[in-house]
Amino acid sequence: MTDLQIAKTVTLKPIIDIAKKFGVPADSIEMYGNYKAKIPLRYIDKKKADRSHLILVSAISPTPAGEGKTTMSIGLSEGLNRLNKKTTVVLREPSLGPVFGIKGGATGGGYSQVLPMEDINLHFTGDFSAIEKAHNLLAALIDNNIQSKTNSLHIDPRTISWKRVVDLNDRALRRIIVGLGGTTSGVPRETGFDITAASEIMAILCLAENLMDLKTRLGNIFIGYTFNKTPIYARDLKAEGAMTVLLKDAIKPNLVQTIEGNPAIIHGGPFANIAQGTNSVIATLMGMSHSEYTVTEAGFGFDLGAEKFFDIKCQSAGLKPKAVVLTTTIRALKYHGGANLKSLTEENLEALEKGIPNLEKHLENIGKFGVAPVIAINKFESDTDAEIEFIMAFAKRKGIRVALSNVWKKGGEGALDLAKQVIEIVEENKSDFKPLYDWKSGVKEKIATIATEIYGAEHVDYNYKAKVQLEKIAHLGLNHLPICIAKTQKSLSDNPKLLGRPKDFIITVREIEIAAGAGFLIPITGDIMRMPGLPAHPSSEDIDINEAGEISGLF
Ligand code: ADP
Ligand code: MG
Repeated sequence: MTDLQIAKTVTLKPIIDIAKKFGVPADSIEMYGNYKAKIPLRYIDKKKADRSHLILVSAISPTPAGEGKTTMSIGLSEGLNRLNKKTTVVLREPSLGPVFGIKGGATGGGYSQVLPMEDINLHFTGDFSAIEKAHNLLAALIDNNIQSKTNSLHIDPRTISWKRVVDLNDRALRRIIVGLGGTTSGVPRETGFDITAASEIMAILCLAENLMDLKTRLGNIFIGYTFNKTPIYARDLKAEGAMTVLLKDAIKPNLVQTIEGNPAIIHGGPFANIAQGTNSVIATLMGMSHSEYTVTEAGFGFDLGAEKFFDIKCQSAGLKPKAVVLTTTIRALKYHGGANLKSLTEENLEALEKGIPNLEKHLENIGKFGVAPVIAINKFESDTDAEIEFIMAFAKRKGIRVALSNVWKKGGEGALDLAKQVIEIVEENKSDFKPLYDWKSGVKEKIATIATEIYGAEHVDYNYKAKVQLEKIAHLGLNHLPICIAKTQKSLSDNPKLLGRPKDFIITVREIEIAAGAGFLIPITGDIMRMPGLPAHPSSEDIDINEAGEISGLF
């Protein structure tokens, strides 16, 4: 059965019942139909949140299909609930780019899913649209100000770094000219589109602690310079009030349910290869306010998502995760060991052995943050006993916890061993989280620390443009911001072709974007794009709807 077919076999519980189970009165939630709701921010209780055990699910370097972090997070939360630990899974919202591209949605798979999966994967509660509107409102205000004779800030159009966004993979929009058509249609200038998940507003929404913090951060968005080289921020255009109005509902986390009828919170959706990658601080704190255990996800691999989760999100919100679940698949390890993508379902112990240094490096990286790991083998039908035994023996040799997890096929039941091990880690108080770097150190020093310690690079090179931007950052007084590196998820390096555990490589910083509102700097490495493209055969070709309104082809 496909994920969508499995999802359709489940009789959904009314969201008011899920809210009661979660611990919020049914008449306080804001309903979006019968199965989705928003939770008002007043239900965040920081004292209670402090007592919740935060568990991070991450992964080794993935294959293009994804290795099952979301599926694992959902399954683990079902498993913990089965063991009578009140648990909430907190996830990020899917983006339409991957839904219609290659990877599919982000609602888990098999018997570990969040529901209603069609709604969550499509427009959901409209948060992405709101973010897109707020983002594009600022873009419109900028072009309007350039056009204006009476209200001009004298923005130099050539210095504007604020683009537009749309939540689709559309490579033709990467570089465009706006303002064509004569004097009444604006001033022509070069700009472009990013995908909405890469919007700084998405990042801001995910780091903001409340509505007023959101507004302040929106006001701090850096746009460009005047002709006199004075920096211009969103507040100079008096934009932040109207932008916050557009986001008044989007800031509230969304409540849905898992297949086994447990609460799940889904909110915010930045990508980890081009932004900070995790759900909102507000959503995590909301989950933690009402649960003994809170399970959240950061990917693609640990190098991208988890590093940013620890160094940006945890530091910014004062979170202290208690354990890392490292989702590991035999297919990805074989891929890193040189096996062809098409042959990953065949037993290949040689490739597995060659690929295992990738797992080893991610485990070393977890150690650098002081958080105790458990390897969760995400079992696929094609995995053989000998392959599973190989990883088990590797973990035993290393003295690292390992659990075979079959959440895709069995839901929470398939995660019981993993859940028990997570509880043991927490109860034995094994973790003492510490970030990798001090926000106060120099920008190049911070980038070098991440590149050498986490990616395993030899050193970092800066293009001319990046060097100029380093000076600009210093001039704007933003050296103290944390670093959010944009890098391919396919490799530990910035070159997608270097699989396994690459060594002696150089990370090249092409440019550095300034996200002054979100509060981080984005060094862009390799040829990573903030607006993805579609493949030759996008999954949209298989998506359809019939007369009865039944959707097919979503996964
Ligand atoms: P990630 O969060 O790491 O990107 P997902 O949990 O979204 O990965 O899973 C990616 C895809 O792989 C989904 O379509 C999911 O249904 C599928 N999948 C995950 N685990 C398994 C498994 N054990 N067997 C088969 N398919 C799986
Ligand atoms: Mg995921």
